[in-house]
Amino acid sequence: MLLGATGSIGSSTLRVLSTHPDRLELVGIAAHGNWRRLAEIAHEFGVRDVALFDPAACAQARASNAFPEGTRFREGPGGLAELSTLESADIVLVAVVGTAGLEPALAAIAADKDLALASKEILVMAGKFVMEAARRKGTKILPVDSEHNAVFQCLEGHPGPGVRRIVLTASGGAFRDWPSEKLVRATPADALKHPNWAMGKKVTVDSATLANKGLELIEAQWLFNLKPEQCTAVIHPQSLVHCLVEFADGAMLAQLAPSSMTFPIQHALLYPERARGVEPPIDFTSLVRLDFAPVDLERYPMMRLAIDSMKRGGVAPAVFNAANEVAVEAFLAERIPFLAIPGIVGNALDRAAHFEPGSLADVLAADSEARRGAAADLPNFK
Ligand code: MG
Repeated sequence: MLLGATGSIGSSTLRVLSTHPDRLELVGIAAHGNWRRLAEIAHEFGVRDVALFDPAACAQARASNAFPEGTRFREGPGGLAELSTLESADIVLVAVVGTAGLEPALAAIAADKDLALASKEILVMAGKFVMEAARRKGTKILPVDSEHNAVFQCLEGHPGPGVRRIVLTASGGAFRDWPSEKLVRATPADALKHPNWAMGKKVTVDSATLANKGLELIEAQWLFNLKPEQCTAVIHPQSLVHCLVEFADGAMLAQLAPSSMTFPIQHALLYPERARGVEPPIDFTSLVRLDFAPVDLERYPMMRLAIDSMKRGGVAPAVFNAANEVAVEAFLAERIPFLAIPGIVGNALDRAAHFEPGSLADVLAADSEARRGAAADLPNFK
């Protein structure tokens, strides 16, 4: 089951499926609104169960005749959740942008499916509730985010108490080598030139601010049941080492792979089996360099805000995430400059009523409140 089939993770997933047709079968697909691409995938992989988040797109899809005969359509957030519980699915890969993946992820857990998680917002916002539900059900959660998948690989067989900390690697994003003065004039087109990874727009901008790494620290905290101070990051320009795990004795394990999402996706889908990869491994017959540098919190204020949010806990990570989404969208629409993003998020965190959420509804309320506030704040940053 693949939610987010038409996105960047979705297309890497399809490459993994095409490489292992003997091991993996696609039984359902969902997308936000791109029904034409969804129809192509349905034909190519023989899928009859589909869902579209956007009801208008779903109506067009139904009327189009583009899908295989006998296709069963579902629509809206409920449609994605329903798809996740299909009898025929063993594992649900959630790779939909933003918070739309939350309901389907919880539905999959309730229906005893394994969960492959690519959407970090799910754990950033509702880590407490998702992990609680997963523990109750004994759900296997397989991280698809490259760094978390790497931590998962390093931790296997090593009991929790022996782990001192994890170190997620960050490429430093599109502006890693820019002088600070020049950042004032950074445009969306500049921010979208990521040095190593081909990804969606939102996450590429988040890589340039390091908000992405901040969200990943919060995600890691929940996935691996760590304290905030055990989740750290380092700049690693080559994106070949995806994480380091440091143990009590000071020894470290690292996980390396080329910077392609097919590696973590395949690991999550075939786990615990190892099989031939989609792409060739790192080639050490030519020069390979691995550099590491500390994260400069002055240069990357979004990282500092993320760490503060993680330490503060409660609804703070949800507020950080929501305000960042509003700010990044405004930056991509050229409504605010690049350097305004941390200002908007910082203000949202200052304004927010901080409390420990008692339910998912509390988190969603804090999320919409932060979005409203951040949107109203945008004109102050023109
Ligand atoms: Mg990542």
